[in-house]
Amino acid sequence: MEKSFINGLKKHLASPKKIVILPHRNPDGDALGSTLALNHFLIQFKHTVNVISPNDYPSFLKWLPGESNILKYSHAPSKVRRKINEADLIFTLDFNSLSRVEDLSGLLKKSKGIKIMIDHHESPENFATLNYSDPSMSSTSEMIYKVIKALDRNAFNKKISSCLYAGIMTDTGSFSYPSTTSETHLTISHLIDLGADGADIHQKIYDSSSFSRLKLLGITLSNMKQVKGLPVVYMTLNEKELLSCNFRKGDTEGFVNYGLNLKGIVFSCIMIENSSEGKIKMSFRSQGDFSVNYFAKTYFNGGGHQNASGGMSLESLENTVIKFKNAIYEISDQFFKSG
Ligand code: 5GP
Ligand code: MN
Repeated sequence: MEKSFINGLKKHLASPKKIVILPHRNPDGDALGSTLALNHFLIQFKHTVNVISPNDYPSFLKWLPGESNILKYSHAPSKVRRKINEADLIFTLDFNSLSRVEDLSGLLKKSKGIKIMIDHHESPENFATLNYSDPSMSSTSEMIYKVIKALDRNAFNKKISSCLYAGIMTDTGSFSYPSTTSETHLTISHLIDLGADGADIHQKIYDSSSFSRLKLLGITLSNMKQVKGLPVVYMTLNEKELLSCNFRKGDTEGFVNYGLNLKGIVFSCIMIENSSEGKIKMSFRSQGDFSVNYFAKTYFNGGGHQNASGGMSLESLENTVIKFKNAIYEISDQFFKSG
């Protein structure tokens, strides 16, 4: 983190401000954990703060402290428009491309508020006045920990620590991905001392499945296929399968990771039909050197991180599978040893 970032931030926060904090669309644990933690920090200093989510999020995140005060653009568009137009400062967290907030991007561009981006994805766009971008960080939540520590280390509290713990835990695959450093563990250690209950947070997020979600996982796993001769697997879920398991937002979270449980597999993909939006949502996970960020950007209008990315397709599910396999064959000589 650069000194100029913290100094700039201190200057902007020196007097009470109207502040909006924004995660990306379909916010995950890190996006919501980081935005809510920053909210709990800022409200201690006479600022007026609103966390605004572009849309709804899974119920396993609906216990996070402060979650019930989040304004959702999809539910209250005129109120959200007003808050963004009135804001002096707008924090954009856990995304670095305006396309990630979809309908809100126009509003953001027009707003007079000073934009402050804090994010750990690669290739940031240049839309903010102040930027703290570091793709080597495990999570935006770990970055928010550093920001709060630099601004006022006495202002941590239990709510902040629970939100940050949840964000770091979910973005590191429970501290298992290579982005997890000794510093991440030191951060987690401090968060536990500050009151975060790791076992309880883990249980709230990962042990809250409905019966039908596990049935859907069963269907997903039985749909899994390997691309012939390559260390690549893919899974599909069509609308009918989703409906048969009473699909709820967030139910498919984590399914794509199962592909990497297979010995020797380094790339896993899931393609999920979304008829109401007329698209296929794709998630990509890899192990090691293969960059799913590059793959998502090159073939499926997406992006993310080296080992975890997402994208989408406007073709049918069947054609998306064909397009996916063609893309894999196109890059296979360069990236995969056949086996
Ligand atoms: P997921 O597969 O869990 O939706 O997303 C994995 C990672 O890729 C997350 O870090 C997410 O922010 C990023 N990501 C997902 N979908 C997209 C997308 O459509 N565009 C970009 N740029 N990143 C995405
Ligand atoms: Mn993140």
